[in-house]
Amino acid sequence: MKPLSTLVSSIPSSPTLAVNDKAKALQAAGYDVIALAGGDPDFATPPHIVEAALHAMQNGATHYPAPMIGIVPALEAIASKMERENGISIPDPRHQIIITPGGKWALYLALTAVLNPGDEVLILEPNWVSYKPMVTLAGGVPVPVSLPSGDNFHITAAQLREKITPRTKALMVNTPCNPTGRVLTQEEHDDIVAVAAEADLYVIADEIYEKLIFDGRSHRSLAAAPGMAERTLTVNGLTKSYAMTGWRLGWLVSSKAIIKLATKMNSQAVSCAAHFSMYACIAALNGPQDVIYEMRDAYQARRDFMVKALNEIDGISCRSIEGAFYLFPSFPGSSKNSLELADALLDKAQIAGTPGIAFGQSGEGHVRFAISTAQHDLERAVERLAKIAHAL
Ligand code: PMP
Ligand code: GLU
Repeated sequence: MKPLSTLVSSIPSSPTLAVNDKAKALQAAGYDVIALAGGDPDFATPPHIVEAALHAMQNGATHYPAPMIGIVPALEAIASKMERENGISIPDPRHQIIITPGGKWALYLALTAVLNPGDEVLILEPNWVSYKPMVTLAGGVPVPVSLPSGDNFHITAAQLREKITPRTKALMVNTPCNPTGRVLTQEEHDDIVAVAAEADLYVIADEIYEKLIFDGRSHRSLAAAPGMAERTLTVNGLTKSYAMTGWRLGWLVSSKAIIKLATKMNSQAVSCAAHFSMYACIAALNGPQDVIYEMRDAYQARRDFMVKALNEIDGISCRSIEGAFYLFPSFPGSSKNSLELADALLDKAQIAGTPGIAFGQSGEGHVRFAISTAQHDLERAVERLAKIAHAL
C-alpha cells in the first residue's frame, strides 16, 4: 500500500478528547474514575433551547438550511448579540457571519481563510490543544510565544515582538483562556492591538468562554478596538456557556472578504451546521439569559471551593482563575513531569486530568482539572488528592 498522509500523521490526536474518552471507557468498565479531563458542562442544555430545536425538527428543519451559512434569523440573532454585548458592528450579517458545526470548525475556517503555505501564526502558550495542529493542517507554521508560569502567564508586547518575522501572518488569542483561566487585562488587550497594527497581523479571537467570567469582570472583544474590525476573526459559540457541547454550534464573524473564503471552504468541506441547531441558537441568544448566569455562578463557587481545598494540600499549588472552567495546578516538590503526574493521578487516585504539556512547553509541571464537573465529584477528588499528594 502507498503511504498515508504525512501531514495528518504529523499531528497528534486531541489529547483532551483522548483523556476524556479514556476516563469514560474506564467508568464504563466499572472503575470509579473521576473525570476532570474534558471541558464539558455537567449541566443539561436549558429546556427552552431543547424545545425550540424539537419544534424545529417537527416542522421540517431536518434538511439543508437556506442559506447554508445559517438561516437568516440565526445570523441576525448572532449579529445583534455581537453588537449589543461585544461592541462589534456587523452591518451585513448575511456576509459577515458564518454558522459552523462548533467553535472548533470556526477556528479552522478562520485559519484556512487567512493562511498561505509557510505563514507563521503566533500562539500564546499555554494554548488550547488544537491550535497548533490546526495551524499545521491549514498549511501554516505555529510559532509558540511561551508565557512564563511564574508570571501567571502574563502577555507583554515585547514577548510578541520578539517572535515576529516577515512571515508572521496571524496571532491566536483566547480569553478567557483554556487552560490557564486567565482573562486579558486592559494592558494586555492594548498590547495585542498595538502589535497587531504595527506588524499587520490578523487576530483570531477565540471568545468561546466569554460568558464564563467571574467576580464581576467583563469581557473585551478585540474586534471592537479601534482599527481591529478588518483584521480580527472572532470565534464564538454556544458550546460552553449554554451547556451545548453536543449541538455543534459555533460561528465566525469577520470582514466580508474573509467570510467569503470561509463560506467557500465550508461549502466544500462540511456544507453547513445542523439546521435544527440553528433554531436552538436563536432560542439561546434571544431567550432568557439568567440560566447561563446561574451556571457561571455555579462554576465560580466550584472554583472557590477547589482553589482553597487544593492549596490546603501539601504538594499542590493552584492559582485562582478569572474565567473559563479549568484549574491549572502545579505540583512543586514533585520530580515528575506532567505526563507522569497525570498517570500517577489516574493510577493512585483514579482522577483523570490533562497533562500540562498537552498545552505546550510552558504548561509543563501543571495538570489541568476541568471544574465543569459536578461539585460532588470535585469533593471526592479533593479527598483522594489529599491522601496521595505526598506520593506524587
Ligand atoms: N476554543 C477553545 C479554547 C476550546 O476549549 C474549545 C473546546 N471546546 C473550542 C474552542 C471549541 O469548542 P466547540 O467546537 O466544542 O464549540
Ligand atoms: N475544549 C474542551 C477541552 O479542552 C473539550 C475537548 C476539546 O475539544 O478539546 O477539554
